[in-house]
Amino acid sequence: MSSATASPITIARRGLMIVISSPSGAGKSTIARNLLAKDPELSISVSVTTRQRRHSEIEGQHYYFKTVREFEALRATESLLEWAEVHGNYYGTPRDAVEAAMAEGRDMLFDIDWQGAQQLQEKMAGDVVSIFILPPSMAELQSRLHRRAEDSEEVIATRLANSRAEIEHWREYDYIVVNDDLDRAFKSVRAIVKAERLRRDRRPGLFEFVNDLLTEDPF
Ligand code: 5GP
Repeated sequence: MSSATASPITIARRGLMIVISSPSGAGKSTIARNLLAKDPELSISVSVTTRQRRHSEIEGQHYYFKTVREFEALRATESLLEWAEVHGNYYGTPRDAVEAAMAEGRDMLFDIDWQGAQQLQEKMAGDVVSIFILPPSMAELQSRLHRRAEDSEEVIATRLANSRAEIEHWREYDYIVVNDDLDRAFKSVRAIVKAERLRRDRRPGLFEFVNDLLTEDPF
């Protein structure tokens, strides 16, 4: 038996596209942020949006902020892998960063809505793992939106109204996590990522590894 301190064996695998969706305020962004902090194999897809920048947001880190005209130009040149209108603004995933990550076998995280999740599932079915985060109750969702205090009352009202429509798409996701406790929800999401990385069909390097195992002469 090898000891727990033996260095890990690396087996080549395909990059994973981890899609996380939820209504605004269900904790998706916090979970995504924690995942990125704890998991060096993961990077986030930074979207483009026509929404106004919030005070706490940094260009190029949270989003690339664009005018409607700029967004339309990106769309027209097929530079977006998927795009959607959410809460009255446009959002889209830049194609180049995703294609580069997949070509190098790196994992990417997508914080996108159900429309984007649907498009990625259609286009890259075998590489996508989708997770939907549900709030424990609508009352809790509402109070989280107010606590965030970064949006106006009008924006909060739109987001709450849209929550129901977003939640109705829960069946289209591979995994459902109820965020009744942030730490527990985070651990569930990490477990999903860990298990999905171990799937046989994502690990072409297993052929060589097992072949070597079976041809090894232990004596
Ligand atoms: P927020 O304005 O709160 O940052 O995001 C609003 C919604 O847009 C969230 O549900 C978020 O997941 C979604 N979203 C962010 N970026 C993208 C994107 O590139 N594509 C799609 N389809 N949705 C996005």
